[in-house]
Amino acid sequence: MKLCRYDDNKIGVVRDGGVHDVSSIVQSLPKLSYPFPLGDQLIAHLDRLRADIERIADGAKPTPIKNVRFLSPVANPTKIIGTPVNYEDHAVEARADPVISLAHAEHGKQRKIEEAGLFLKASSSLIGPSEGVVIRFPDRRTDHEAELGLVIGRQVSNISEQEAMSVVAGYAIALDMVVRGTEDRSFRKSCDTFSVLGPWLVTADELGDPGSLQFTLTVNGEPRQNANTRNMIVGIARQIAWASSVYTLYPGDIIMTGTPAGVGPVRPGDTMSLTFDRIGSMDVAVRGP
Ligand code: MN
Repeated sequence: MKLCRYDDNKIGVVRDGGVHDVSSIVQSLPKLSYPFPLGDQLIAHLDRLRADIERIADGAKPTPIKNVRFLSPVANPTKIIGTPVNYEDHAVEARADPVISLAHAEHGKQRKIEEAGLFLKASSSLIGPSEGVVIRFPDRRTDHEAELGLVIGRQVSNISEQEAMSVVAGYAIALDMVVRGTEDRSFRKSCDTFSVLGPWLVTADELGDPGSLQFTLTVNGEPRQNANTRNMIVGIARQIAWASSVYTLYPGDIIMTGTPAGVGPVRPGDTMSLTFDRIGSMDVAVRGP
């Protein structure tokens, strides 16, 4: 199933280029009171509600996807986890470009991913493709990073690599935007609009093996990134196990699994176009401050 959030916080199922409104499913979510549980409640209950969602979609008249504005398919992640330098070709380009490698290096030497650790992006930076990225520091270099985004389906900590794939709710296209510079990653990657997820969530059962997805990013039609998830240094199951050994993962938490070579700057007026095998494609506009 392809699940989306769109327009004025509607919930939809995407089938054959049309969005079926299933917003009434929120009436089946538990009535909650303070202190509300952490995590995204729709994602938390997705397995239980799946059959009902499909049934509502069957009876809904589809709207063509070109006529809707896609929001992030996850409304309330507790955190967005980033995996740094997870493709060897990006590690090579980062070593060659002092502007990229400023934050990767320690005493002038690039660290391996295990030494660098994971990082966090503020959940307030999350948007969907229709909202567009806003340049925060116009006089500095802001880069795109196309990545596979994965969404956690249930609360878990210390899960083994062998069991890790069982906690994935699904996958989406992710953009990890970053201002280059010397500040901490959490500062430079957490500006409002700097985490894009979309255009919809493809459930794990529908996507199948996420370890062989070809993906591309262009800017104004010019090819920038073209890679395959099989070339990750640390695979998806190990990223989940690693993250869960440090943080409790909650429903809706997002892991941005790293970017390949070809990162580069964007400016107001640009359009980034991303395409992923078995997920889909999305355009993201870049706007001035
Ligand atoms: Mn990244």
